[in-house]
Parts: sequence; structure tokens; C-alpha cells
Amino acid sequence: MIQLIRGFKDILPEESALWQHIENTARALFEDFGFREIHPPVLEKTELFKRSIGEDTDIVEKEMYTFADRNGDLITLRPEATASVVRSYIQHKMYAVDPIRKMYTIGPMFRRERPQKGRYRQFYQINAEVFGEASPYIDAQLIFMLVTLFSKLGVMDINAHINSLGCPECRPDFRKALSELLISRKEQLCEDCIRRSERNPLRVLDCKVPACREAVSEAPSIMDFLCPDCARHFDTVQAMLVKQGVRFELDKRLVRGLDYYTRTTFELQTGALGAQSAVAGGGRYDGLVKALGGPAHPAIGFAIGFDRLVEIVSQSQENLEKKPVIFIAALGEEGIQNGYIWANELCLAGVPTEADFSGKSLKSLMKRADRMGALFVLMVGESELKEGRVVLRDMKTKEQHAFPVDKLTETITNFLNR
Ligand code: ATP
Ligand code: MG
Repeated sequence: MIQLIRGFKDILPEESALWQHIENTARALFEDFGFREIHPPVLEKTELFKRSIGEDTDIVEKEMYTFADRNGDLITLRPEATASVVRSYIQHKMYAVDPIRKMYTIGPMFRRERPQKGRYRQFYQINAEVFGEASPYIDAQLIFMLVTLFSKLGVMDINAHINSLGCPECRPDFRKALSELLISRKEQLCEDCIRRSERNPLRVLDCKVPACREAVSEAPSIMDFLCPDCARHFDTVQAMLVKQGVRFELDKRLVRGLDYYTRTTFELQTGALGAQSAVAGGGRYDGLVKALGGPAHPAIGFAIGFDRLVEIVSQSQENLEKKPVIFIAALGEEGIQNGYIWANELCLAGVPTEADFSGKSLKSLMKRADRMGALFVLMVGESELKEGRVVLRDMKTKEQHAFPVDKLTETITNFLNR
């Protein structure tokens, strides 16, 4: 038997109701906040991700599914969505009429990481991005929308961490101070971080190796380096979050290693997932649109780890699996023919209906209805049909109701709505 590829997984029919519930909740909320859906392709030129995510990152260094197309072009299965959305914003000149664009996208991402619980090689993200607006109120609103989604889904065990990364004006001073500290602690750092401490010292801050964490515990805080504009921006974000009751903590370790990431950065963490605690991350990337060849428009966005969110919600949500309201137990040729027509009518009337056309005995049909958790069984037997009626059995109370076959669908929908 051929099995699926390591690190990949099936989302099975019995899990889908929960995925749909989360997706529908996100869509409805985002649309109300003015976001519109975009569907970029999952394959893009490798160059796009190299330039936007950065050569010096784990993703580009070792996690991308990159291969040569038949004509030799290097293409990559997207490891994240932002790069594609930015490419699309630029390519379609979405800024031409109004630079402000709010977009969201939901779909699979691919990273060749070590598979483990909460970490897959194909995983799903829910992304939202806002282009063309530099105001700190947008940062606050985006974080507000994100935490609102979690609370709408009943997720309580969630912590918002926020930080500012400054801007190209003020970050270099911080970077220098950090780099000096790290070089003085060189013998404590892991091999990667020794390399990073000169090239990209900010990335040492989020290294998970305990010795490196220890080494950076006395690292300077970027808060002491922010220029007046960045400080004001970050103050406003925090003030607006406080005003709306969004709880958060300042986290000086929260960083992004790339130059076009600016100012506000944030992450939602949960205790419900063990080691894989990050369930969403985001921030400003005011320099990226320009870096990818577009106009100098600011932008901010987030990505939710959909798989991890499903895992958290499933811990508190009762089973959402859909069950038929009516199960039609059709008996005999006559019963099957009539049952077939009524099944389609009921489905069209919005009553979830399952019909069994196998011609099996009433006993085995009742067993199947029970197994499926049907609320009612409509028994369509030949002798009842001759008398112009059918019997609807309430599977919980065991009550039975006889209904005339004439206008049956209408009678049943009225009965269900009573
Ligand atoms: P982590 O620190 O867990 O590796 P990350 O910083 O690589 O996360 P981002 O690139 O910010 O993650 O992606 C946003 C979200 O996508 C993460 O917070 C996480 O919930 C989810 N995510 C990232 N990688 C995976 C994966 N391999 N499998 C499942 N979910 C993932
Ligand atoms: Mg990662």
C-alpha cells in the first residue's frame, strides 16, 4: 500500500467540521473588518521567497521545497503567504486607486522541517495583511481582530506578546549594542548563534538553545534605543490595546531577523500545545513592498497556524461532526423510488438527509441510522405507501408520527420547525 509522505497528513472528513467552523468564523470576522480574500498560487519563483524571507533564515537555508521545473526554472512551494500577497499587490498595482488594501488568505504552506506534534511539512495558515497604512491604529486594530477571533472560538489560554523592532533609523544602534554583548559571550553561544552574532544578531534573541537564552538574558532592550517616532508609534499601539481590554506582555526576545521588518511585532502563544507554543505571529514590514520592486508603501500582517488552532479548539469544543436530521429507510422497489425523490427534495429544502437505497432489511437500516446519529428515521415501506402514508420515528423519544405522502416534504419541514 502507498502511504502518504512523512510530515504530511490527511485532514479527514470527521475533522472537517471543526476546520470549517474555524475558517467560517475567521472569514466572517475578517470580512466585517473590511478584508477581502485573495488566492495566490502555491508555487512561485524561488527568487521571490529568497528575497522576501531572506537568505539567512532557516526557511530559505534548509526548509524550502525547491525544484527545477521542466524548463530549468527554479520554483518553490510557498513556505508562507506574505511574499505572494506582496508580489500580487505590486504586480496588479493594487495601490493605484487607493493604496490601502486589506486582504486575507487561507491555505497550505510547505516547509521541510523535522516532523513532530504541531509541526508538519504541509501545514495551513490563515493570513491577513494590510497595505498602505502606517498608522499605529492599524497595528492595534489588527491585533484586536486577531485576539477577537481566538475569543470567538472560545480559546482562553492565550498570551499576546508584543515588541517593537524600531526602524532603519534607530535599529542599527540597538543591533550594534546587541552584537557587542553577544561577541563578549561568544563561548556560551551555539554554533549558529556565533555566526549570527555578527551577521544578524537579532536572530540570536529567538534561538531556542538554553545556553543562548541564558546568554541573551542580559541583552539590552530595544525600548532604550527607539527613536521618538518609533517610541510614539509603539506607545499608541499599547494604549489602544489597553483601551480595548486586550491583555499583552512586552517581550524583548520577539524579533524578526530581516531589515524590512519594522516597528510592531507580535506573537500569540498558548500553553495548550506543549513545545509548539506559537499559534500566530505577525508584525509590520514597512520595507518589503519596496524591497520587492513596488512603491514605498508600509504594510503589516499576521499568520495563524491553522493546524495548531484546530488542535487547541478541539480540546474545548464538543464534536461538531454533522449528523443527518432525517434518515430515509426505504423498503422495497416502490419505497426506494419514493424515498429517492423525497431525499432530494429534503436536501434541497435544507434538511440534512441521508437515504439508504441498498434494499436491506428494516432492522439493518435502523442500525445504520442509529450509528450515523440520525435524529429521525422516515420509514418508507410498501404497505404504508399503499395506504398513502409514511412513518417518521423520533430516534430519541421513540415517538412515531404518520404523515400523508401528499406534500410530504412540506409537512416534514413544518414538523421540524414546529
Ligand atoms: P515556530 O517558532 O513554531 O517554528 P515560526 O516562527 O516558524 O513558528 P511563522 O513563520 O511565524 O512561524 O508562521 C506563523 C504560524 O504558523 C506559527 O505561529 C505556527 O503556529 C504555524 N507554523 C509554522 N510552522 C509550522 C509547521 N511546520 N507546522 C504547523 N504549523 C506551523
Ligand atoms: Mg519555524
